[in-house]
Parts: sequence; structure tokens; C-alpha cells
Amino acid sequence: MPEGDTIHKIRNFLAPRLAGQTIVDAKLGDAVAARRCIGRQVRDVIARGKHLFIEFDHGITIRSHLGMHGSWHRYPPGSAWQRPRQQLSLSLTTANWEYVCFNAKEIEVLSLPSVRNRIVHTRLGPDLILDAAEPLYLARRAREILDDDALLIDALLDQRVASGIGNVYKSEILFIEGISPQIRLDEIDDRVLGKCFETAAELLRRNLGGGRRITRFERDTAGSLWVYGRGGQPCLRCDRVILSGRLGRHNRGTYWCPSCQPTKSDD
Ligand SMILES: [Zn+2]
Repeated sequence: MPEGDTIHKIRNFLAPRLAGQTIVDAKLGDAVAARRCIGRQVRDVIARGKHLFIEFDHGITIRSHLGMHGSWHRYPPGSAWQRPRQQLSLSLTTANWEYVCFNAKEIEVLSLPSVRNRIVHTRLGPDLILDAAEPLYLARRAREILDDDALLIDALLDQRVASGIGNVYKSEILFIEGISPQIRLDEIDDRVLGKCFETAAELLRRNLGGGRRITRFERDTAGSLWVYGRGGQPCLRCDRVILSGRLGRHNRGTYWCPSCQPTKSDD
């Protein structure tokens, strides 16, 4: 599942390969917008939270958000794709390669840099990988944006507070911090809330290299994640059965250990 670390890894792959290249062919839903990219040079590729911005020399920017199922592929021009054509969201062809994005949740062509800046500033909090935001600042930001009785899991996923945390990290952060996913913002103080974002930033940054996502850095083969996707299996710390359920504003799959992550009433 693409989260902030995935988007930064994609950015780190695409930026040096696309920047300075002239686009010889482009395909996206909006054919007029696609034509406007042909013959133009890519200036830069920027990641911000879960959004990727491909900037062109004439001021146009393509914004993409992969959602849960999106991915980027690279092919020699003219070669067969590994996914059906109906799943195409965007393709940009240079002299030597075709860069194809499939199943994106959002693709948008922004005509003015000011529009991009507005999206970044109004819809996205500090990027946990790029920006060194103070944990207490993020805690206060969460309280400004969300209601007091909002769940902590919703604050972690809210990209207006801080950008980069996705559904896998959400469960993993709470396990590491020993906090139940049923906890509301008004049940924790700023220090605890800020620490969750600090842990998130650390995990996202540690996962910028290649390979699978790791939140559990133990020297064994028991698993690279503590709880995500492990419902019904024994907790890797205490052996209790990991619970799972659809929690929060968007009913996203959530995993937790009832013993390592007690609710207040369990204390
Ligand atoms: Zn446990």
C-alpha cells in the first residue's frame, strides 16, 4: 500500500531520470492536457506527503495520488505493459523510456504553480520525511484541525495535520507506542500525541531504502511488521492474539494487541 515512504522512493527514482528530459508522448484521461505536455521538458519531480508533482518547464504540473492501488512502471517505448490498458492513469514517454502510472486515485493537471502551492499549503501538513516539524507543533496542529473527541487513528491519517502516514504505519505506530486504536485525542496529552508523529517520521525515513516495509527491527525472522495484517496471529511481543477491525472515520482496517495496547478502562 503506497504511503509517504513509497511516494518518496518513487520520486527518488523518477526525478533524476525525468528531470531535463523532453516528453515525446503523453497519455492521460484529459487528452488536451496530455497534448500540452508533449514536446515540453520536465523540470523536476517533487513528493509531498502522498502526492507526486511532475513539474514542466512551461509552468504546468501534473499532480498524482496513488491511493490504495496505484503504481508506477517503467518500460522501453513500445514494449508490452504488465497491466491492462484500462488501468492506465498517466504515461510519459521520453526518448528512451516510457514511465507509466496505473490505477491512480487522482491525476490532475495544474496550469499554474500557484495552484500547486495552494494545494500543498491548505491540504497538506508538514511532510514527515522532508520537514523537521516539532512533535509538539504537530500535536497542536492535530487539535486545531480535529475535534477533541476524534480518534487518534484519524489524526494520524489526516494529511492536513502531517503528511505521509498511511494505514499500515497507523497500526504499527500505535503498537510501538502502546496505545489502543480506540483512544481519542482528549484522552492523551500533547507529549504522547507528538511522540506518535515523531515515531512515524522515524519509521518513514528508515524505510526510504529498497525492499519491504519494516517497522520491527528485531534480529529474527518472525516478521517485519508488528501487527498490520496479522489479525488472529499471536502478538510478537506478548503472544496474545492480535485483533483487527474497521475503525475510524473511514472504516480502515486496523490491527492491535489488546494486551500491549490497553484502553484506559483496562488499566
Ligand atoms: Zn502484545
